[in-house]
Parts: sequence; C-alpha cells; structure tokens
Amino acid sequence: MARNIGPVCRLCRREGEKLFLKGARCLSGKCAIERRGYAPGQHGPNANTKRKKQSDFSVQLREKQKMRRVYGVLEAQFRRYFREASRRKGVTGAELLVLLERRLDNVIYRAGLAPSRSAARQLVVHAHFNLNGSPINVPSYLVKPGDKIVVRDSSRGLNYWKTVLADGDTPSMPAWLRAERSTLLTTINALPKREEIQVPLKEQLVVEYYSR
Ligand code: SF4
Repeated sequence: MARNIGPVCRLCRREGEKLFLKGARCLSGKCAIERRGYAPGQHGPNANTKRKKQSDFSVQLREKQKMRRVYGVLEAQFRRYFREASRRKGVTGAELLVLLERRLDNVIYRAGLAPSRSAARQLVVHAHFNLNGSPINVPSYLVKPGDKIVVRDSSRGLNYWKTVLADGDTPSMPAWLRAERSTLLTTINALPKREEIQVPLKEQLVVEYYSR
C-alpha cells in the first residue's frame, strides 16, 4: 500500500496546472500554483523560459504522470492497471480510467465524504468503513455494482463526520453511485462510464506512452 509521501503541491507545479490534491486549500489563495506557478527546482521561474518545445514522448509521459498523481497511484501499480485495461474488451484508455475510478478511495472522495482522494485513502486505511457488512482498509479495492459502503458504528462518534453532515452542500454525484449523507451510506449503482468520469485527462496519450 505504498503511496507518495513527498510534497504534494510540487506535483501540481511540475505539471503546470491544478490537480486538486489537497481539498479546500486548492480553491484558496494559498494554492502553490497561484503563488508560484512555475516548475519546482533550483532554477526557479526562469527555468521555464528556456525550455524547448515538448517532444511527443514528453507530452505522453507528462499525461501519464498526471493521471497517476490525480488518482494517487505509484508506477508499478499503475502499470498493472494498464495491463488489466489492455486485456479488457473495450477501448483501453477508457477502461483504464474506469478501473481507476472504481478504487475505493476515489469512491469515498466522489461521495463527498473526504475533501481529496488522499484524505479518502487515509479514512479507508484507518478502517472507518464497512463494505457489504465487513470492515475494509484497502484503498485500491475495486468497487462493483451492488456494493454498499457505510461508515462503521465505532467511527460515527468522530467530530469529522459531524462536520461532513453539517456541510449542507451535496457534491454533484455521478449517476453510477448514490450517497446518502444522513446515513453515511454509499451504494454503487453501476460501473462508471467514460463520459461520466469528469477528469481533465487525455487517456489516449497514456495508451500511446505504454504502446511505444
Ligand atoms: Fe495543487 Fe491543491 Fe497544492 Fe494547489 S493547493 S498546488 S491545486 S495540491
């Protein structure tokens, strides 16, 4: 269950755009992209001006890194997702995104129970959820239609959930899942479809990267 433990905002700065890895901070003036919107490194803002035109390989590589970082997956596991996606019948890029979207930590994030995927991952690892009646602490678990994810009774007393419930805003929910905030129950209605996955990623470039 390895994960990236380095500075998170650096990842956005490297990609030159907001990847929304830190919840509310990403929407505030404290966002590193707002304050230092250039690539990290000792050469500072001037380094960007000297960069040459990106090669096709570089564009593909950056898109692959971006996808990994958005979903918080390390390289070896990401490769496994790609291999699995290429074995499936559909379009490989779309299948890859569907696999990533089905991760349990992503589902918790999409259900509005955590401000970011990394926060959702921590909630899962700390075993705050039951899946179909049994405790689960595996963020990479791939949900399937009919799965029911609910906050465990032993965790319901945490102030964190009071804050979640007090926050009246219900996030826009993709049709493939239903989240009942009052009961902290999330149900998987169906597998996600590509058009329901709202992420600023070009999966075709990732497929091209691995097909070199
Ligand atoms: Fe990226 Fe959020 Fe950090 Fe901004 S605050 S750089 S969007 S992780």
